[in-house]
Amino acid sequence: MSTAIVGVQWETDKGIITGYAFNSTGRYSCAATVSERFAPRLLALHPADLIDENGLLAPDKILNACLNGEKPGGDLERSMAIGIIEIACWDCLAKYLGLPLYRLLSSRFNDGNYLDSVPCYVGGGWYKENELEGELEDEVDNYLSNGYEIVKIKVGRDLKSDLNRVNRVLNHLRSGSQLAVDANCGLGEHSESYARAFADFELRWFEEPVHPVAHKKLKSFVDIYSHAVATGENCFSLEEATNLVELGGLRAGIDFLQFDIPQTYGISYLIRLLTSLKLRGWRSESFIPHGGNLMSLSIVAGLQLRMCESYPNVFGVFSGFYDSVKVSEGCIKIQNAPGIGFETQANLMDAFNTLGFGKQS
Ligand code: MG
Repeated sequence: MSTAIVGVQWETDKGIITGYAFNSTGRYSCAATVSERFAPRLLALHPADLIDENGLLAPDKILNACLNGEKPGGDLERSMAIGIIEIACWDCLAKYLGLPLYRLLSSRFNDGNYLDSVPCYVGGGWYKENELEGELEDEVDNYLSNGYEIVKIKVGRDLKSDLNRVNRVLNHLRSGSQLAVDANCGLGEHSESYARAFADFELRWFEEPVHPVAHKKLKSFVDIYSHAVATGENCFSLEEATNLVELGGLRAGIDFLQFDIPQTYGISYLIRLLTSLKLRGWRSESFIPHGGNLMSLSIVAGLQLRMCESYPNVFGVFSGFYDSVKVSEGCIKIQNAPGIGFETQANLMDAFNTLGFGKQS
């Protein structure tokens, strides 16, 4: 896969501030959409259109300016490009204020509350060609010895061998609550067989059993399976999220929603999404954003969402957290670098520095 990185510069009374973001894993790069469509649209505006009443960069105005005149629907065609620009603006704004992003989000949207220790689970257990005996169990043991307490493995290739995989992994865990499984939307006609066969494991969650808009199928799965289901990483608008929740039979307080924030228009849009879903009974502890990176870690901490994803050593510089990160008892202690904190990830900064904005902030 490919990814896009973006840098935003804001000229302020404190000098030029640079903010960064990238579109996280699972989709291809949106670089052309940024450079050919939304960057020129924003740069053509008067700066006063993009700041708030206090003279501060206003990410929600950036979002609105990008959406101005856009035809409704087909959100994914633009939601990633807008999302990464918007998040880079948050990075800029937090740096200007001398705050870590999580503190800024906490003060603006969460009554000053935040998590200073963020629960994280590992997304791993991919299928491997010619997997060696015990390789999956070794991978899980490795996560546990590195401080993680909840792991997720892939399922969906074949029911019999998947049951075997899950049983093997469960032998290395205290209970099913330490294990989640992810079918990457791929169960198709087998979804009900999986729902029946997996119900007794009492896993932490079963992720994306069916295609993201197969709502009826999802509802059948949820009804049969009955335990926690997680989904939403392939939802890119408020309307898609509402349909998913309402038509897919999801249950507030039991199931989890996993929107990918940089891919779904960014943080201002997430706030609208959370506000709307809260009216339907969904509380912040139901949200586990997709994407194991410092953007999602900061957002989970600042808005007190349930948990952050992590995938150590899988997506190169586009996964992971601070270079000095330590996971302990399933949690990561949040650090206080200004902004998102990308400057604490040297190899990722090397990638951002290829944009040529310099290292001034
Ligand atoms: Mg997934």
